[in-house]
Amino acid sequence: MKSKLIVGNWKMNGGLQANSALLSAIQSGLSSVTCRAAVCVPSPYLAQMQTLLVGSSLAWGAQDVSAHESGAYTGEVSASMLRDFGVRYCLVGHSERRQYHAESDTLVATKAQRALSAGITPIVCVGETQAERAAGQTEAVVKRQLAAVIHANGHCISEIVVAYEPVWAIGTGLTASPEQAQVVHGLLRKQLQAATAQADRMAILYGGSMNAENAATLLAQPDVDGGLIGGAALKADDFLTILASASR
Ligand code: PEP
Repeated sequence: MKSKLIVGNWKMNGGLQANSALLSAIQSGLSSVTCRAAVCVPSPYLAQMQTLLVGSSLAWGAQDVSAHESGAYTGEVSASMLRDFGVRYCLVGHSERRQYHAESDTLVATKAQRALSAGITPIVCVGETQAERAAGQTEAVVKRQLAAVIHANGHCISEIVVAYEPVWAIGTGLTASPEQAQVVHGLLRKQLQAATAQADRMAILYGGSMNAENAATLLAQPDVDGGLIGGAALKADDFLTILASASR
C-alpha cells in the first residue's frame, strides 16, 4: 500500500518564534508517524525550515512559485530560488491564489511546469465553488483545471501531486462528506489514468476543513491518498492526530 501524504498549509501565518515552537511540538510526536508529511510555509521562513528541519522526516514546501524563470518580475520567487532552500513541495493553484490573484488554469499549469523543472513536486489544487457545485458543474470544473496541467506537463504528469479542495470547504468548517470526496477523487484518478500509466501510484489529497475528528474517515476512502490541511496544521496536537490517522 502506498504511504499517505499529509501537507500543512500555514497560509500567511507564523513568525520566527511561533514557527519554532510549532515545529518542535510537531517533531516531538513524529517518531510514531509512518506517513509522508510536509509543511508549506510563507517564503521568508523557508531558510528557517532548512535549519530546523534538516534530517527530519518532516519535509517543507512553498505556497506559490513564479511562472517565470528569472528576470524583471518584482516580488516573485522562482522555482530555482525555492530549490536553494531545500523545498520539496510547492502548492500551485490554491483557490486563494485563483480567487485573489486571478490565476488562470494556464498560469497554474506553467507554475507546475516551473516547479517540476527545478525538481520540486507541485501540489496542484483544484476545486469547485459552492455556486459551481449547486449548478452541477463540479466534474467539469475540476477536470478543466486538471486538464490544463496535464496538457502542459506531458509525460512528467506522474510527478505531480493533486489536491482536491472544494472552495466551499476551505476555512469554512464545512467538509465534503467522505462520499462526496471519493466521487471527485475517483473522477480525478480516471483522468490521470487516461494520461499516465503511473496514475495509481500518484497522490490525490483532500483539503477543506480536514481536522483531527474527520481525518480518519476521509482518509479511509480508496482514492483519498492524504490531506492538505490549513487551520488544523497550525495546532501541533491536531496536526499530529491527522498524521496518526494517515499512518494506520
Ligand atoms: C487550505 O488552505 O488548503 C485548507 C484546506 O484550509 P482549511 O483546512 O483551513 O480548510
